[in-house]
Amino acid sequence: MRPGESITCPRCGERTVVKSRKKMDGFTVVGEVYVCILCGAEIGSPEDASASAPPDHAAADRFAALLGDVAAPAAKADLTPDADYGRFCRNCELFIEHPFRTICGHDGRTADPMGECGHFQKKLGK
Ligand SMILES: [Zn+2]
Repeated sequence: MRPGESITCPRCGERTVVKSRKKMDGFTVVGEVYVCILCGAEIGSPEDASASAPPDHAAADRFAALLGDVAAPAAKADLTPDADYGRFCRNCELFIEHPFRTICGHDGRTADPMGECGHFQKKLGK
């Protein structure tokens, strides 16, 4: 419902138009009400319109969907050891941690702990 909208008044039953009127408490404006231009009955308020349930639920769903999108990649970043465990050299059975450098047991060359190669073998017992 909004000012200027054509409705049937619930009080006088006539086809009427919604009129916005300031709600006064003495000389203070405390709100806004919608009244019937024919009989002056209060037929609603802007607050009623904004507090109606369906739009709020839709907004909540959109917010939840937004959180869902954010939560999904975070779950994928979980480093739980499973079949998809990161194929980084540091997780490889062939990876040798030396005090001064890290070596790949496959070719004996310096290995990047966060690197990847075609000879990855999942480290066991961890
Ligand atoms: Zn009326």
